[in-house]
Amino acid sequence: MNVYDSQRMADIAAQEGYEEAAGPENADLIVLNTCHIREKASEKVFSELGKLRALKNVRQRAGKTTTLVVAGCVAQAEGAEILRRQPAVDVVVGPQSYHRLPELLRWTQVSSGVVDTDFPPEDKFSRLSASAPAAIARRGVSAFVTVQEGCDKFCSFCVVPYTRGAEYSRPVGEIIEEVRCLAAAGVREVTLIGQNVNAYRGADGTGGAASLAVLIEAAAAAPGIARVRYATSHPNDMSEDLIAAHRDLRSLAPYLHLPAQSGSGRVLESMNRRHNAADYLNIIQKTRAARSDIAFSSDFIVGYPGETDEDFQETLNLVRAVGYASSYAFKFSPRPGTPAAEMKGQVEDGVKAARLAVLQALLEEQRQAFNRACVGRRFEVLFEKRGRHEGQVVGRSPYMQAVFAEGPSSLIGAMAKVEIVEASHNSLRGKVVSQAS
Ligand code: SAM
Ligand code: SF4
Repeated sequence: MNVYDSQRMADIAAQEGYEEAAGPENADLIVLNTCHIREKASEKVFSELGKLRALKNVRQRAGKTTTLVVAGCVAQAEGAEILRRQPAVDVVVGPQSYHRLPELLRWTQVSSGVVDTDFPPEDKFSRLSASAPAAIARRGVSAFVTVQEGCDKFCSFCVVPYTRGAEYSRPVGEIIEEVRCLAAAGVREVTLIGQNVNAYRGADGTGGAASLAVLIEAAAAAPGIARVRYATSHPNDMSEDLIAAHRDLRSLAPYLHLPAQSGSGRVLESMNRRHNAADYLNIIQKTRAARSDIAFSSDFIVGYPGETDEDFQETLNLVRAVGYASSYAFKFSPRPGTPAAEMKGQVEDGVKAARLAVLQALLEEQRQAFNRACVGRRFEVLFEKRGRHEGQVVGRSPYMQAVFAEGPSSLIGAMAKVEIVEASHNSLRGKVVSQAS
């Protein structure tokens, strides 16, 4: 989502006459778009700001001004505190108000240190005009489209409901217009994104609300769109119609990122996830029954407060029961203001690190096994760019793997049937069998 927001901020800056600079040393305007989800990401912001302050001073001595903006969820969470810790910052803007960037930049002419972390009543997206074709073309053949933002679930460990606010779904018409605009500029694949994307309920233009399944079907029907993905989903919002969409819509990628977080019922309850491992496995089984070639990925947290060795074993059992194509695992990071940060039974870092290593080794083993099992299979690859070698193109499989193949650069932007002939550590090699579209 930060990638999408950054692109939209670049579009806004372009409308104000800015062009993308080669690097920060050439930039009159620098926007740091930040993430608050874990402490490590959050702390990086301040070390980065220290470097940018030095750069700003160097440029100032050369007679150049630099406007420094901090955007995103750290901006939302820390607000004016950022100005106190780093006075070189000119603007602090939260993720719900970055459409006001032009006004905020004008404010910096008359006032130092402008902060906007409101949740404004107007719809941010309706204030963001459809991007200029030149800007969209830079996005290549695959693009993100935010369809839903915020979260009402309040998992005990998570800052999202506080930094991104309440759940909001964009209207269907507005999203489809953006998808059509992207497709007209050469985009062939869209990933519909939201913190809780399958909770999507967007106004359908007839007084009703459309589900994510309905939205996916409409996006897939946009001329030029060959493949649709969505992320990130909550297990409790895997509705019957969404599962059926995996059965009925061939252009919906057979790949589902469905974070489980833990395999222990006790931990899941304390996390306020409102599902247990059996519920999760049931959804996996139903989705597999709807689409036999579907593959799964997940997020896991280790060392959540109170997590015992037995709880952790249950997570490993869940991972073994599902067999993931790819997954992310994180050490629990206590986030200020969330209930889990204050819970008893905080797990010491050494234990977290040891569990993370065990879980990551198992997930990596599964990823490699999945990649090896792709050898001999044929599936559709959307070619995105030239490969490292002459006469080579690279694209993405339905399962997000990088696939290299021999072929002309005219394949870029095309979806082609590819037979996988080799799996290496981080990519697949294939042979183009036929061009689909
Ligand atoms: N909405 C998605 C869901 O319900 O699973 C997850 C969105 S969250 C932005 C992305 C991932 O970050 C989560 O799935 C979780 O694994 C991880 N995460 C969130 N808060 C965390 C924390 N305090 N410590 C460690 N990992 C965290
Ligand atoms: Fe965070 Fe996802 Fe839980 Fe919402 S559902 S609070 S975004 S982990």
